[in-house]
Amino acid sequence: MSGANRQQWRNWAGNQRATPVQVARPRSVGELSALVETASRVGSRVKAIGSGHSFTGIGLTDGVQVELSGMAGLRALDTSTGLVTVDAGLPLYRLNRMLADAGLALSNLGDIDRQTVAGALSTGTHGTGRNLGGLATQVRALELVLADGSVVQCDPTRDPELFSAARVGLGALGLVTSVTLAAEPAFVLHAAERPMPLGRVLGELDELVATNDHFEFYWFPHTEKTLTKRNNRLAEGQRPRPIGRPRAFIEDDVIGNGAFRLTCELGKAVPSLVPRINRFAARFMGDREYSDASHRVFCSPRRVRFVEMEYAVPREAVRDAIAGVRRVTELPGMRVSFPIEVRFTAPDDIPLSTASGRDSAYLAVHMFAGQPYQRYFAEVEAVMSGLDGRPHWGKMHTCDADTLRTRYPRFDEFLAVRKRVDPGGLFGNDYLDRVLGPADGGS
Ligand SMILES: Cc1cc2nc3c(=O)[nH]c(=O)nc-3n(C[C@H](O)[C@H](O)[C@H](O)COP(=O)(O)OP(=O)(O)OC[C@H]3O[C@@H](n4cnc5c(N)ncnc54)[C@H](O)[C@@H]3O)c2cc1C
Repeated sequence: MSGANRQQWRNWAGNQRATPVQVARPRSVGELSALVETASRVGSRVKAIGSGHSFTGIGLTDGVQVELSGMAGLRALDTSTGLVTVDAGLPLYRLNRMLADAGLALSNLGDIDRQTVAGALSTGTHGTGRNLGGLATQVRALELVLADGSVVQCDPTRDPELFSAARVGLGALGLVTSVTLAAEPAFVLHAAERPMPLGRVLGELDELVATNDHFEFYWFPHTEKTLTKRNNRLAEGQRPRPIGRPRAFIEDDVIGNGAFRLTCELGKAVPSLVPRINRFAARFMGDREYSDASHRVFCSPRRVRFVEMEYAVPREAVRDAIAGVRRVTELPGMRVSFPIEVRFTAPDDIPLSTASGRDSAYLAVHMFAGQPYQRYFAEVEAVMSGLDGRPHWGKMHTCDADTLRTRYPRFDEFLAVRKRVDPGGLFGNDYLDRVLGPADGGS
């Protein structure tokens, strides 16, 4: 493709752009494997892209961009075991619907469902839940096209090292073509959204996390106000009380997104008003109860554009992390209109999962698109670094391989797998060079 015809790609937040030399939309594993072989021969890098919902440059390429919307179907679904195998490009919202039609559901999800299955897995996408890990902990097998064009299936018995690492693979190990996930019988969640003062949340935090299946809260900076969210499974036989489409539209779209956008615009125009706006917003949002199919409770629309940084810290450090972020928001001239989201997950056994080997709390900070975020994020990052924080791979951060090696005990295990399956860095890009170092390990 000539330079003049090259199309610019941008991510959801609009803060990352790339101009790939070629955009490929393969329709089969065979086609994808041939494409990889050709790219490898001519020395062009290759990068799959999902829905572009990452805030970092993790999905950027100036080589061949592989878009998998033509590989987004259901391969197999076994209702007796709950195992479902799907093509990697399938968006989560379609997977959720397919599962619901079969009486199944994923155990946990993040806040939105627009990501592709492979895209969400590759950055370690997670939700909240005292006993549950991120999406990758629900993976049972993977199929990948490796840098030499070969197609491999891996699971805990077939190439277990590759399987272990590739569950949160950062797009660095190969092109994921299919994913087998363990779903469970569909369940209904009862959601209770309640305002609560920050001091009380922190005082009762251990209990709130322990006594709810999925607990999280949003703290409104410059105020003492939070919105707590408790999602718990309804006992069998209890009837769901869905919110109803018109009310959901008013609460999620008009208030949750529309009014929120207005408050962000106002805060951007008149920063000194932000503390008052936040107090007002905290009063308006939440204080409702409803119940619905799990995926409809976990995920909601996000129409206000923003940039985000999120760090995982050891669970026991969560109060220090919140105190640190609070100090940052109180620095002279700092005005933050977006609430800070705090979530919790169980430890897992995935080398580069942010929850690898430890009970984790997550703190996410956001800034309305178009507003300067650099000082806020840098100060928050310094707090998180002091607490052994691990950045979400798809959200903004400045860590490099030397720092990350100290935060991930199994960092070198991942690099060894990478060196074996992609020694030439075919799937590399600038972001991976920074966070992982050279693909051949520098040898
Ligand atoms: C509004 C919003 C809400 C969010 N909420 C949450 C949340 O609640 N929890 C959370 O943890 N994160 C959340 N995120 C972050 C998001 O889940 C991740 O950034 C996720 O990776 C995005 O998926 P995607 O399909 O857009 O992937 P992309 O951003 O397009 O790509 C991510 C990575 O996956 C790689 N990749 C994609 N497909 C393949 C493939 N087939 N093979 C190999 N590599 C592949 C890409 O190369 C890239 O490295 C949110 C983001 C936004 C914008």
